[in-house]
Amino acid sequence: LHVAKTSHSKLVCYDDEQNNYSPDRLAMIGQLRDAITNEELRLHYLPKVDQPDGHVTCVEALVRWQHPDRGLLSPDQFVPLAEQTGLIDDLTRWVLTTALRQLSVWRRVRDDLSVAVNISERSMNHLDLPQMVFDALTETGVPPASLLLEITEAALVADQERAGVVMQHLSGAGVRLSLDDFGEGFTSLSHLAELPLNELKIDRIFVKDMLESPNDTAIVRSVVELGHNLNLEVVAEGVETAEILAALNELGVNGVQGYFFTPPLPATEIMDWIGARTP
Ligand code: C2E
Ligand code: CA
Ligand code: CA
Ligand code: CA
Repeated sequence: LHVAKTSHSKLVCYDDEQNNYSPDRLAMIGQLRDAITNEELRLHYLPKVDQPDGHVTCVEALVRWQHPDRGLLSPDQFVPLAEQTGLIDDLTRWVLTTALRQLSVWRRVRDDLSVAVNISERSMNHLDLPQMVFDALTETGVPPASLLLEITEAALVADQERAGVVMQHLSGAGVRLSLDDFGEGFTSLSHLAELPLNELKIDRIFVKDMLESPNDTAIVRSVVELGHNLNLEVVAEGVETAEILAALNELGVNGVQGYFFTPPLPATEIMDWIGARTP
């Protein structure tokens, strides 16, 4: 893997094993462009379970591609391709609009529900992202505070200043912001304190081996303390066992996600799942 700096001082990665000009790759790019108009993309929803009360007030939208020949593709198989080819803005717009339309239907029976949408590094550095978000909110009538945008720490490292401007614009309008995959990047503490964040999300890599790894436990404990000192909610993802859930509760996390509760579910199933948990 080579990492190169372009004139826009953005990092670009070229993968030798996946030849950039292979016919396969070119075909995928063309198909991805059509996938949006052909309605081949799907959203699955992963609940965020509040701690310690176990309520669900937010679900995270996760995109999939129902490919005509290759079956259901996970985002790792095509989101990077969308980022590299400039299709990411269309994808982000589709995800935002679809998730908010769905939320507006759910909110007729559950008006406390909100939705989280992942914003890719590249979209985060586009100054027109806020307008795209505001358009989707206006179209669907969802209040800004019922939308949480999950921004990876890497997106902030790429262009701190521009990402900061985009975040201020969104936050100023009432949209909530989460720093995703926290712990993987190198955001300085002073920068973190300046950002208009509502939530820190601890990546699964620190959570999954917590019980065996004192180092991972120390990292999770530090992030929880840091988040709480900055008045942020702290959410841990990748919870697969009751033991890890208990350990996270001991450390005082505000929310958890993971296969211990459920994998991401299609829209048709997630409300039944939430309903079955509510006493
Ligand atoms: P992420 O935002 O960190 O999302 C969490 C990923 O971990 C999801 O995988 C989720 O299904 C998985 N996960 C959650 N709990 C567990 C668990 O207990 N065990 C295990 N093994 N996995 C768990 P998924 O859906 O494959 O998404 C992968 C990544 O793709 C996401 O990571 C996110 O960075 C990206 N992504 C997904 N949807 C979108 C989207 O609409 N737009 C953008 N830009 N990126 C997206
Ligand atoms: Ca996420
Ligand atoms: Ca991620
Ligand atoms: Ca993650």
